[in-house]
Amino acid sequence: MHLCTYEHQGQTHVGWVKGSGIVSLTRALGDALSAHQPMIDLIAQWPQLQPRVQALQDAEPDVLLDQVRLLAPVPRPGKTLAIGLNYLDHVQEAIIGETRTVPDHQVWFTKLANAIHGPFDPIVLPRVSTMTDYEGEMVAIIGQRCRHVAPERAHEVVFGYCVGNDVSVRDIQKRTSQWTLGKSFDTHAPFGPWITTFDELPDPHALDLRCWVNGELRQSSNTRLMIHNVWAQIAQLSQVMTLEPGDVIFTGTCSGVGAAFSPPKFLQVGDTVRVEIEGLGAIVARCQAEDPED
Ligand code: MG
Repeated sequence: MHLCTYEHQGQTHVGWVKGSGIVSLTRALGDALSAHQPMIDLIAQWPQLQPRVQALQDAEPDVLLDQVRLLAPVPRPGKTLAIGLNYLDHVQEAIIGETRTVPDHQVWFTKLANAIHGPFDPIVLPRVSTMTDYEGEMVAIIGQRCRHVAPERAHEVVFGYCVGNDVSVRDIQKRTSQWTLGKSFDTHAPFGPWITTFDELPDPHALDLRCWVNGELRQSSNTRLMIHNVWAQIAQLSQVMTLEPGDVIFTGTCSGVGAAFSPPKFLQVGDTVRVEIEGLGAIVARCQAEDPED
């Protein structure tokens, strides 16, 4: 099942994407979903609501996909966590603190709420840098409140998966050992286009992942090449914090980021970045300059 958040005629809905149409679950489920965080409500109540959603199997779409603006599937996640240096070929191309060796521990940072962004909305290149970069990544969405999850049970707490771009401002990122600022510029955490639910994807570790800039293939890998797979990531995170429905995890990128080219290929105004993952769809963004009035 593909579940999205969309805007149509000034209203935000959650919906079930079926082919070229969307069935509004905001309409169909009525009071079960709050106005301010309907997707998180849907995820949190999924065991109860799934039969009601499934009963809409033959429903006519409320709107066509090309008539709406897709938003980030979870527009305001409680937490957005991202792992760094999680594909060997990316570790080898990245120079972080003068090392290119695999870290002893999982490297985590956060992407803050202001960075969350729709799957087809423009990426803003900040005026303070000329080194904005792309990182195509699979994104996992947490399905239930959990703590201390063993890796072998971590699949039970995942609601689904999306395509993401961990947009990174390299000079800001690398000038300090903490990466949060370089990773949290406005618009720099686009993901979507929808959540593909876990039942459609029993093994998220076998998916081709690609990223193009202006049609040029820059990144090409497979999620089986993660150093720490999604289950290990959830095990680590849940030792530290309670994970909750709708929390977002960026699971790492492979080689081919702009910074690794010689000369580097950082994003320029007018560039189009497309990230696609097998079975999850694609997100596409044009790059635009930061508004000088902002
Ligand atoms: Mg990343």
